[in-house]
Amino acid sequence: MEIKITKTTAPRPRPDENNIPFGTFFSDHMFLMDYEAGKGWYDPRIVPYGPLSLEPSCMTLHYAQEVFEGLKAYRTADGHIQLFRPTENIARMARSCEKLCIPEVPADIYLDALKTLVKLDADWVPSAPDTSLYIRPFAFATDDHLGVHASHTYLFCIITCPVGSYYPEGLDPVHIAIESREVRAVRGGTGFTKCGGNYAASLHASEIAEKRGFSQVLWLDGVEQKYIEEVGSMNVMFKLGGKVITPSLAGGSVLPGITRKTALQLLGEWGYEVHERNISVDELIAAAEDGTLEEAWGTGTAAVISPIGEISYRDKRYAVNGVQIGPVTHKLYETITGIQWGRIEDTHGWTVKVC
Ligand SMILES: *Cc1c(COP(=O)(O)O)cnc(C)c1O
Repeated sequence: MEIKITKTTAPRPRPDENNIPFGTFFSDHMFLMDYEAGKGWYDPRIVPYGPLSLEPSCMTLHYAQEVFEGLKAYRTADGHIQLFRPTENIARMARSCEKLCIPEVPADIYLDALKTLVKLDADWVPSAPDTSLYIRPFAFATDDHLGVHASHTYLFCIITCPVGSYYPEGLDPVHIAIESREVRAVRGGTGFTKCGGNYAASLHASEIAEKRGFSQVLWLDGVEQKYIEEVGSMNVMFKLGGKVITPSLAGGSVLPGITRKTALQLLGEWGYEVHERNISVDELIAAAEDGTLEEAWGTGTAAVISPIGEISYRDKRYAVNGVQIGPVTHKLYETITGIQWGRIEDTHGWTVKVC
């Protein structure tokens, strides 16, 4: 399918490249494509970024039949622009779509849309250190109808925004609190999908944790509230007695992060023993107490690697690696960001050149 392009005549305001607030300034153009039952996806187009018109009865506003993705475009030192593992995002959104009963966006059109949009707004990809263009694809139900069933019409949209360094003051270890009352996801639910509803469900516990001075909550499983799942909206990894342990994806409540997958592959190549398995709070706290918990970090596209400096559980605080970033955490951050910005050679074929 050919993507029809309508260029803007009113360029949008741009942020100062050295001080970009996250998710605030949107680039000039957006990609749109419609779906109708019986017709499939049709009319792929790029148009000036602007408001969408929806009926108040739009099903998404009531029943949250919506999925999204998050990835970035990076400017390399020689001025090229590249994406990082975009086909992983496309495949993951297909799995999210299946669970939310949204028709899958064909992978070839999806990749073409990402590349064409980023290329058209190439001068929105910043070049200051550690900056990038954040890309947010999403698809949602558009039937104007109340009634709980899958919509017959959908809109697929991609918007982009320049983002600054996640760590303007350097990689600061975060303080997190284990959440033992509320849960983010349950077995058999939507935990493995990127759907807006998962985030809505996480806000309450996150707000309480923030008021108590923590930057994230460490979520436990929704069945026994015993096993660790994720940290905030990142996957979590621990270095315990020389081995790296991360919660398994088998239960379906942990989001299959692309940064997680990348980190696990690199760690394996570096010779670390890596285990994807359940890890209980009791095991983690015992390791924090006897000194075998060496490092802890979160992984996700926005922060890439986020060192965990302190874990709070039942009013006790446990420091990790003296609240300093550990060597493995640091090596992962340097290596992954190095590949993303083209400072380190990509021997895995993870980067996709846009222009
Ligand atoms: C997006 C997301 C992640 C991280 O996934 P990446 O592909 O690494 O960005 C982890 N947990 C949750 C809940 C997420 O929504």
